Amino acid sequence: MKEHLKDPIFSIVSEEADQLQQACFVIGGFVRDLILHRNSKDIDIVTLGSGIELAKRVAKRLGPKTPVSVFKNFGTAMIKKGDLELEFVGARKESYTHDSRKPVVEDGSLEDDQKRRDFTINALAIGLNKANFGELVDPFGGIADLENKIIRTPLEPGITFSDDPLRMMRAIRFATQLSFRIEDKTLQAISDYAHRIEIISKERIIEELNKIILSDKPSIGFKLLDKTGLLPLIFPELAKMKGIDEKSGVAHKDNFYHTLEVLDRIVPNTNNLWLRWSALLHDIGKPRTKRFVPGTGWTFHGHNYVGEKMLPKLFRRMKLPMNEKMKYIQKMVSLHMRPIVLSEEEVTDSAVRRLLFEAGDDIDDLMTLCEADITSKNAEKVKRYLKNFQLVREKLKDLEERDHIRNFQPPVSGEEIMETFGLPPCREVGEIKNAIKEAILEGEIRNNHDDAYQYMLNKASEMGLSPNQG
Ligand code: ATP
Repeated sequence: MKEHLKDPIFSIVSEEADQLQQACFVIGGFVRDLILHRNSKDIDIVTLGSGIELAKRVAKRLGPKTPVSVFKNFGTAMIKKGDLELEFVGARKESYTHDSRKPVVEDGSLEDDQKRRDFTINALAIGLNKANFGELVDPFGGIADLENKIIRTPLEPGITFSDDPLRMMRAIRFATQLSFRIEDKTLQAISDYAHRIEIISKERIIEELNKIILSDKPSIGFKLLDKTGLLPLIFPELAKMKGIDEKSGVAHKDNFYHTLEVLDRIVPNTNNLWLRWSALLHDIGKPRTKRFVPGTGWTFHGHNYVGEKMLPKLFRRMKLPMNEKMKYIQKMVSLHMRPIVLSEEEVTDSAVRRLLFEAGDDIDDLMTLCEADITSKNAEKVKRYLKNFQLVREKLKDLEERDHIRNFQPPVSGEEIMETFGLPPCREVGEIKNAIKEAILEGEIRNNHDDAYQYMLNKASEMGLSPNQG
């Protein structure tokens, strides 16, 4: 392992720990990622003695201006060196009470410290003192689990998850990020203790869900959440999408698996967390709008609008941000059928202009979502849709260049209308303004001041208004 600890910071820590005569190790996620060749900037250092004292000495060696953040209550200290973040802590032993994930903490041995870690692959340590520099300490078979791609708890999994139920989310998150299998007993324990997730804060749950969504194949995580029974507890709206109904020999597709397919399909095309959330939520209104219409089959009329309306309550409960991010997802959910419908019909200029008007700057994201939404097994159908989408995209580009609808600003303002006709703020002003917008979207006039002004004069005269002479 020595060759992996080439950064001079490790020799500095080593020398200072030896001076203090304190055993010292690098431990946890950094060691795991080092072996997996994943880039990691968070370095956890554990020492048998004071972590704060060691951190202060290391900081001094790095230069007089190196700041140390000390968290006395936790007995930890942090140093930043370039893009590396080093956290120092004394080895500890933890014991839990039933109703909290806050453990009672006392000083402990290295093995005590490794035992309190969530998974064998996160419990690896490497010696940093001169006598054992680069030597791996692996009491629970973490290396073998890394090789065999297995997530397993160091202790009895039931105790591990009951002590801190967040670990259930972490197990599923690591399985998703690393494409690892959760060992059978560990997976069974997650199912057994799923109900304990109730003591975990919504913020921590969202943090893990976001990491699952940002991984290369988020469906792995959501299928595991479903399999273990966590999904209905943390995200009932998504759990309700599961299942297929059949009537008169007609079945609809399983909307849960369809959603996961859309989410996986959008991954290569965007790293935007909120666009990925839009993929996860685009059909969330389907269970509430499902009807069987004899002769027609299953319908989900208005599921996009119902989905859009469901979001504020869902976001509040899950502690997702109720700001412009939610508005953006609402827009995606409500508009997600438009490009498809558009591409099924003749692609008219006015329909494309209207789509541009409503989607604004988010039009490209909307098209990305819609392309991911085409999950048909019928290759011919997929080909046809994608071809039509190409057509829609080209039209979008042409019309945007011509009419600048994307960030539509009324070319004639309400004030100008009021001034021209000597009107106070009133219904007629709104009517004229709207008529101008409609004429532009319909392609009757171009989006510029002269055309709009002339149109305003004609419209007003139809309404019996004449320009202010004064
Ligand atoms: P990532 O950096 O990808 O979020 P990580 O596990 O490396 O994952 P942290 O969450 O900072 O990063 O955790 C660092 C280490 O602390 C872990 O490797 C693990 O050993 C330990 N750890 C973190 N959370 C827990 C927990 N809930 N229970 C037990 N050990 C934990």
